[in-house]
Amino acid sequence: MSSAVVSNTATLQKYLDLPQNGAVLAEYIWIDGTNGIRSKCKTLSKSPESIDDLPEWNFDGSSTEQAPGHDSDIYLRPAAIFKDPFRKGDNIIVLAECWNNDGTPNKTNYRHECAKLMEAHKDSKIWFGIEQEYTLFDQYDNVYGWPKGGFPGPQGPYYCGVGTGKVFCRDIVEAHYRACLYAGVDISGINAEVMPSQWEFQVGPCEGIKMGDELTVARYLLTRVAEDFGVKISFHPKPLQGDWNGAGCHTNVSTEQMRNPGGMKYIEEAIEKLSKRHKEHIAVYGEDNDLRLTGRHETASVANFSSGVANRGASVRIPRSVAKEGFGYFEDRRPASNIDPYLVTGIIAETILGSIPE
Ligand code: ADP
Ligand code: MN
Ligand code: MN
Ligand code: MN
Ligand code: MN
Repeated sequence: MSSAVVSNTATLQKYLDLPQNGAVLAEYIWIDGTNGIRSKCKTLSKSPESIDDLPEWNFDGSSTEQAPGHDSDIYLRPAAIFKDPFRKGDNIIVLAECWNNDGTPNKTNYRHECAKLMEAHKDSKIWFGIEQEYTLFDQYDNVYGWPKGGFPGPQGPYYCGVGTGKVFCRDIVEAHYRACLYAGVDISGINAEVMPSQWEFQVGPCEGIKMGDELTVARYLLTRVAEDFGVKISFHPKPLQGDWNGAGCHTNVSTEQMRNPGGMKYIEEAIEKLSKRHKEHIAVYGEDNDLRLTGRHETASVANFSSGVANRGASVRIPRSVAKEGFGYFEDRRPASNIDPYLVTGIIAETILGSIPE
């Protein structure tokens, strides 16, 4: 069933065609206290030339698990601007950081520290590319397209699948792809995943703080596109128990030194540093990630760090082509699909490049 049950998109179109008389709609989006995204819209009298032209705004943090009722005002500080693929025209999406009344970053605002760290290390030109896996559910919380009360056949035909019965909901995936391109998100590809109705999109490579920004906006766009189709997006790392793959956010990483000839030396040094902080990394690599990192289904055990060339059962993989050429990037396979990307890119930068110098 689609959302047409409760809304009428054909009739809506008539109103969307009305001119806006110069107004610009700015949809402010932010990360809430439940690891979800919230948004509210503001009318602007003209297009901002930069982030500095955008007003600070606020919302009721007691309704989003971000503040107590007696001190509920949370401030939205604009951090990045994207084009709005839903409203189009001059309308925009504004990614905002959440700040408390007393001038401290809100408990959900991991972007602030991450941005400081990336700024301190900007000479290293650190790039990230995140592979976001996710699962589709229908409005009754059944995995989308699975037989009612039963299961599809075992995994095998679904990964990068083509054809009826092998692939589910390609329309949402395609719509999201276009929405990202329009918005200005550096989406680098998509593919159907191993579990039926599970998909992946890749964002990047993005330098420094941009990784978290672009992934957050890409997640917002996906959730919002799926709303149009009456479908739910799950970022849970193990949406289904049993012999079904979990969902991750493989995080690919390189510094300028790693990308140049002879870079393998720096890749190996980075992996050595990562191996010494496994526990600290796992602590911020997503809730319920232990359900996914079992050592089965193309994962490594949550308990131990491992690495290897072309090994999809290791914590960190060096792609075969990188090992062959002797430079490039590496892949941290541990992060779960539900990570905060600022926490993950932040701790990776900190471990490899060091904490912020005093
Ligand atoms: P996989 O084989 O693991 O499924 P994908 O093709 O899905 O790989 O994803 C590869 C990711 O690596 C992409 O997100 C891409 O942006 C990223 N990537 C490619 N080159 C670099 C690089 N030099 N530094 C960081 N990330 C990179
Ligand atoms: Mn009100
Ligand atoms: Mn991938
Ligand atoms: Mn994948
Ligand atoms: Mn991968």
